[in-house]
Amino acid sequence: MSTIHEPAVFYTWQQSFQDRNSQVSIKKATHIQYQDVTFRNWYKKINWLNTTLVVLIPLYGLYLAKHTPLTRPTLLWSIAYYFFTAFGITGGYHRLWSHRCYSARPPLRLFLAFVGAGAIQGSIRWWSANHRAHHRWTDTMKDPYSVMRGLLFSHIGWMVLNNDPKVKGRTDVSDLDSDWVVVLQHKHYGKCLLFTAWLFPMIVAGLGWGDWWGGLVYAGIIRACFVQQATFCVNSLAHWIGEQPFDDRRSPRDHVLTALVTMGEGYHNFHHEFPSDYRNAIIWYQYDPTKWLIFLLSRIRIPGLVAPMAYDLKTFRENEIEKGRLQQQQKALDRKRAKLDWGIPLAQLPVVDWDDFKTRCAEGAKLVAIAGVIHDVESFIVDHPGGKALIASAVGKDATALFNGGVYEHSNAAHNLLSTMRVGILRGGQEVEIWKIEWSRLEKDTKGVAVMRAGEQITRVGAPVAAAVAA
Ligand SMILES: [Zn+2]
Ligand SMILES: [Zn+2]
Repeated sequence: MSTIHEPAVFYTWQQSFQDRNSQVSIKKATHIQYQDVTFRNWYKKINWLNTTLVVLIPLYGLYLAKHTPLTRPTLLWSIAYYFFTAFGITGGYHRLWSHRCYSARPPLRLFLAFVGAGAIQGSIRWWSANHRAHHRWTDTMKDPYSVMRGLLFSHIGWMVLNNDPKVKGRTDVSDLDSDWVVVLQHKHYGKCLLFTAWLFPMIVAGLGWGDWWGGLVYAGIIRACFVQQATFCVNSLAHWIGEQPFDDRRSPRDHVLTALVTMGEGYHNFHHEFPSDYRNAIIWYQYDPTKWLIFLLSRIRIPGLVAPMAYDLKTFRENEIEKGRLQQQQKALDRKRAKLDWGIPLAQLPVVDWDDFKTRCAEGAKLVAIAGVIHDVESFIVDHPGGKALIASAVGKDATALFNGGVYEHSNAAHNLLSTMRVGILRGGQEVEIWKIEWSRLEKDTKGVAVMRAGEQITRVGAPVAAAVAA
């Protein structure tokens, strides 16, 4: 959280001062974050300003609500103001200023800065600096609200505890410093907060229908508490529950529940992959009212104005989005593939001479050669669906034609099963063909991990051999 005495600038200065003086090794006390909790120092561990704004006042509001009747117009106003202030965060603080997903004309920027301040989440400048660090160093110690430090820390702990400011990653917010709306709001943030969070909703309810106290308690304090908790869920729940359709190397996740409470910010896996896209949900039925509102603002032309309030909406190319989705699907396939038995890789099989093959069969081995690959069918003879006699008659022979239509055009499943029985490669010209096929497959699949396609098994030869018995 921030006050008008913004700490970021101070810390930046302090950091550079320390860096410059590191040679003279100034002895500094260990930051309170690293000290053990004692009876004497526990209160220093708490950031009391933030704790007051996000814990104590909301709790006091809930206590007041017990004794304050909630009238119908105040309830409707509280809900409406909830959506306005939440949009100030999602459409303003987040998508406009933190990520520059679109551009907005001054009246819209002023409106978003106004309602955003009413959400009691710090100034635009402070919020965006933290959020950019969160994206740049997701899941590391430099991420100000890293979920790796615990769900509660990412939700609220990072604000209510006094954390060492040197740990947090630095980001460039110079673009925000050239936006006069951001600078104005930052400079007068304390007054903005007081007015937009509590006084304005109170005045509307008071002048509107005479419910001054109800306006303050419900549309002011309780409403702000709901907006805060909903937004905090993006830092905690959206990094905890849901699916990862675009990348699973880091924690962000997509979940409709988080989207429902955060005006569409719950499609967080997509958002971390494509942060400058003004959308968080890309499928039409997914709940992303922030996207719908921005789109609407880019279409509505107010009479007298040359252009809509929102413009230059950014989206990633469909091609790039689909590539990410496909790679993730491939990853899931690879994991499934790795659990299955595909037979010993051809490259690891020993090369056996025809004479050796015959000798071993004469000694009792139940070997069958198909397409240059030797298979040990001993344990399968009794289970052969085509009968024991047929498979037994192929032992010690090259059964390529028999297997591929000569007697029966074996199924895809049969080729797959056969591959689990392979024990060697037959020397004598055949192996050259096998290596050629194997290499052409590996060329397409650089890591050699792709699933063997149906019909591409090594034991399947070109066109089926016409059945000798067909006539
Ligand atoms: Zn995130
Ligand atoms: Zn973001």
